[in-house]
Amino acid sequence: MTLAPESVPTDLEELSAEEVLEHAVERFGQGLYVACSFQKESSVIMHMLLEIEPDARFFTLDTGLLFPETYATWEALERRFGVEIDVFQGPTVARQAALYGDELWKRDPEACCDLRKVSPLEQALADVDAWVSGLRREQSPGRSRAPKLTWDDRRGIHKVNPLADWSERDVWRYIHRYELPYNPLHDRGYGSVGCTHCTKPGAGREGRWAESERTECGIH
Ligand code: SF4
Repeated sequence: MTLAPESVPTDLEELSAEEVLEHAVERFGQGLYVACSFQKESSVIMHMLLEIEPDARFFTLDTGLLFPETYATWEALERRFGVEIDVFQGPTVARQAALYGDELWKRDPEACCDLRKVSPLEQALADVDAWVSGLRREQSPGRSRAPKLTWDDRRGIHKVNPLADWSERDVWRYIHRYELPYNPLHDRGYGSVGCTHCTKPGAGREGRWAESERTECGIH
């Protein structure tokens, strides 16, 4: 069931992250699907949502080029919460090289992100009513107006950003309060964590595609 975009309520901006998730669970039920990038926001959302809905469903986009620390965080979260995170993937690195040549991420990062992130995301969201992301407004100018609940026009479903108005400090306070597993790369200067070839240490999203104009991979 996909709900019409005009039914997006306008008063959600006043709600806390927990209340936004409660609303999403009540409204979308099992049609709600949570994207996990294994950055610090994923730890918060997973804990918060499972307190509300123990059967909540999670997925990740495994590009095959994630940091070992990211894979370890994935395992740690599954262990801590007893959940199994669904996986969506693009072609293997070898297959991509055979089809498009070596190191596509250097020559054409947009095409690489399309293959490894955008297409797998479309598969993940093909049969759901709404997805949840860890996007926060302070992460970048391009995200500064992200609503807590919006209509994702590209996919024809709703998108929930429960942490939209959270600061970095809010995120860390929550993680420490509940002693949640989190990606250790954050302690080594990585404000944001993506693929190994395209992520460097840096505040906020500064370290993502740091040597190019690129700021987003195309999923948001
Ligand atoms: S972030 Fe880099 S390596 Fe990862 S999918 Fe995009 S271009 Fe490819």
